[in-house]
Amino acid sequence: MKYISTRGGIAPISFKQAVMMGLATDGGLLLPVSIPEISAETLTQWRGLSYPELATAVLSCFIDDIPPNDLRNLVEKSYSTFNHREITPLVKQGDCYILELFHGPTLAFKDVALQFLGNVFEYLLKESGGKMNIVGATSGDTGSAAIYGVRGKERINIFILHPYKRVSPIQELQMTTVTDANVFNIAVRGTFDDGQSIVKSIFNDLPFKDKHQLGAVNSINWARIVAQVVYYIYAALKVTGSEGVEKVDFSVPTGNFGDIFAGYVARRMLPNHIRNLILATNENNLLTRFILNGDYSLGPVAQTSSPSMDIQVASNFERYLYYLNGEDAVMTRQDMDRFAASGSLQFDELAQERVRADFASRSVNEAETIDIIRDFYTLHGYVLDPHTAVGVKAGLAGREEGVPMICLATAHPAKFGAAVRRAIGHEPDIPSSLAALTDKETRCEVMAAEIGAVQSFVEQHAL
Ligand SMILES: *Cc1c(COP(=O)(O)O)cnc(C)c1O
Repeated sequence: MKYISTRGGIAPISFKQAVMMGLATDGGLLLPVSIPEISAETLTQWRGLSYPELATAVLSCFIDDIPPNDLRNLVEKSYSTFNHREITPLVKQGDCYILELFHGPTLAFKDVALQFLGNVFEYLLKESGGKMNIVGATSGDTGSAAIYGVRGKERINIFILHPYKRVSPIQELQMTTVTDANVFNIAVRGTFDDGQSIVKSIFNDLPFKDKHQLGAVNSINWARIVAQVVYYIYAALKVTGSEGVEKVDFSVPTGNFGDIFAGYVARRMLPNHIRNLILATNENNLLTRFILNGDYSLGPVAQTSSPSMDIQVASNFERYLYYLNGEDAVMTRQDMDRFAASGSLQFDELAQERVRADFASRSVNEAETIDIIRDFYTLHGYVLDPHTAVGVKAGLAGREEGVPMICLATAHPAKFGAAVRRAIGHEPDIPSSLAALTDKETRCEVMAAEIGAVQSFVEQHAL
């Protein structure tokens, strides 16, 4: 399988090259030249597979330059860190299914992709004899998943900036208790935006970037998307095929359009088994406005109880835009240039019809989020985290009789205990892995929010 850019500016490259490139060199995002539709015979074979076996089969559709045995080993290694034997178990709760994606080491769904990405990086660097220094900023959640993705790996060091004392105690501990020699936590005396802008400046220093082989683990890496396609197929195959059920719907709490885009890819592979994709947003409703009214324009960022979705620019949107534009890279480049200049794109009636054929959407406000956590707990005794709650609210509202609704559960509720307490009056049970963190040794460098200080720290500790 070859990969191309949504902006048409690169010659087709292999999967391995696509993983190492991350963002396409022409500023676009990388996509496979085609998305295979899976035959009925193949699906019959896939039905009986375990999660790692299915993951290997699905990934093989997009990866032909890693030998099958090696790919299987990478997959098995990636999911051996999960604490549930089904990896992503599906539980029925009343009128919907909950697809629990939070059984990885940091108890959030980003582990599904980042455990795999970390292993792929290590494998490719070993092969090429190269090295990588990952530098990133986090507001709390992605940082720990990235750290756990590469902790202890050879040829990789990781530097993660977080705002000093401005992340939750659990988030801080999840990062700073990782004391592997290749992990460097940097607490910056400032805000998340300060950290983000320091990282940007470091990446803009091109000689520095080249010298230290700086790398990123943000959500635009194709390896992350493809790892997420797997659980849609896994869940769809579990629910269909018995009792006359042919198709399922999914509801997906969305920020960067990454997870929902993986659902879009999964549906193109299984068009007869996946029907509606509901894109659920919190009060940051850019993507809901796009789907319902063809209005993709920036607004201010609101702080909500589902902070991992408090996003305005959806970094994976361009991938869908490319398909919406009929795989026209010139048009996609023009659209993205226009968006960069004006912060807004407006879509005509025809495009809107196509978008609404691809996605349904609903924006869920703070009161509704807290209410659904409470109601769901009262009815089923099951605690939703606030991100999952946004998806469940939208999913239950968009459900149709006879079509199972699968809601993606993207974080363990214990990670967002304060919001849960507001809804049900007490904090959820803390899993033992989180409780154990308080007794662990921590390591973290506290620093002024100055580019110079951070950059020289990276320089000193880079591979
Ligand atoms: C990142 C994240 C999301 C949003 O995922 P996208 O791929 O950005 O749409 C939802 N819930 C949680 C808990 C997250 O960490």
